[in-house]
Amino acid sequence: MQSLYVHFPFCESKCHYCDFYSLGREKTRETDPQRFELALKKEAGQKAHLLSDQLDTIFFGGGTPSMTPPDSMRRALEPLELSQRITPNTEWTMEANPSSIELEAMREYRSLGVNRISMGVQAMRSDFLKALGRVHSREAVPKALEAVFQAGFENVSVDLLCGVPEQTENDLKEALEILTQFPITHLSCYLLTLPKQNPMSKLLPDEETQLQHLLWVHEWMTSHGFDHYEISNFAKPGKKARHNLNYWQGHSYLGLGPSAHSYDARNSLRWKNISSLHRYSALLEKNESVMENEEVLGDAEKQLEKWMLALRLDTGFPTNWLETQLQQKRVEIFENEGLIEKHPTDPTRKRLTARGFALSDQIIRALA
Ligand code: SF4
Repeated sequence: MQSLYVHFPFCESKCHYCDFYSLGREKTRETDPQRFELALKKEAGQKAHLLSDQLDTIFFGGGTPSMTPPDSMRRALEPLELSQRITPNTEWTMEANPSSIELEAMREYRSLGVNRISMGVQAMRSDFLKALGRVHSREAVPKALEAVFQAGFENVSVDLLCGVPEQTENDLKEALEILTQFPITHLSCYLLTLPKQNPMSKLLPDEETQLQHLLWVHEWMTSHGFDHYEISNFAKPGKKARHNLNYWQGHSYLGLGPSAHSYDARNSLRWKNISSLHRYSALLEKNESVMENEEVLGDAEKQLEKWMLALRLDTGFPTNWLETQLQQKRVEIFENEGLIEKHPTDPTRKRLTARGFALSDQIIRALA
């Protein structure tokens, strides 16, 4: 496995819309970060043999990994001997939040080997940040970006949310103008989704507004030198998120930490770790497995996965995948509706347009 994911489950506070496994500070007081460090070290020792000698990508996600001190990360991952597995070409990303970024710590993460930062900005209006349950202020964002670049990071991604209640194109424009004053190389723009029981869910904009905003972000980003290479992702040339590309291209990866997923492409085997820090730690203290479930993908799942992965990328799919008349007819309809287009440089492929990206769920359902 040439890609490694490590899940750090601590956050300063739980955001109202978050469905990742993470514990806000009120909960982390009950847990012991040292206990997590030891448990992670145990799991790393159990699974080090699954990793390739040379790693293509590493991703520290969560949660908020930047809340874990670099020394603690170093100790926990000692059994993986990462310094011997990384090459000058390894992409090593760490997620960070504006409120937990300090210049000195950023320098230490760099000396650990991290060479790419993915920062959760989400919005640039104080009232939106408050409504979303984010702990950082609007003013913290430029300060955090300054610290990241001052520490020497050159590959920096930011996350922004689209579809926030009451958000306008002007809000998006203002946010993108502030963010691109910095030499960011990548932007992820996700549509805010909320479970029905969340009181804010009634305030979400309608589908037409969501579509307009997504298309507006596409226009703005592509006219500012970014390629729209995946449904929600934009990159400067040569700066696509390689770790995520490995997921989307169906390559193997090893996930460590509570709730982490892993995939063994050779055996079509997927598994997931337990989503409970307490149980994760307790099981590892007894040297037991932390796997919650595993599944071998069947033919139908592989077929769905193949379409889902291909349609989300701007490389699209080869036209010889259209095996049935129904699929060919549907693609023709989608082309007439401006949702699918010929690949601009490869006549053997077709792909989703920006509008198609925004409506990708229904297209995948129709073609898979
Ligand atoms: S900071 Fe990220 S991981 Fe943590 S609660 Fe908020 S959205 Fe979830």
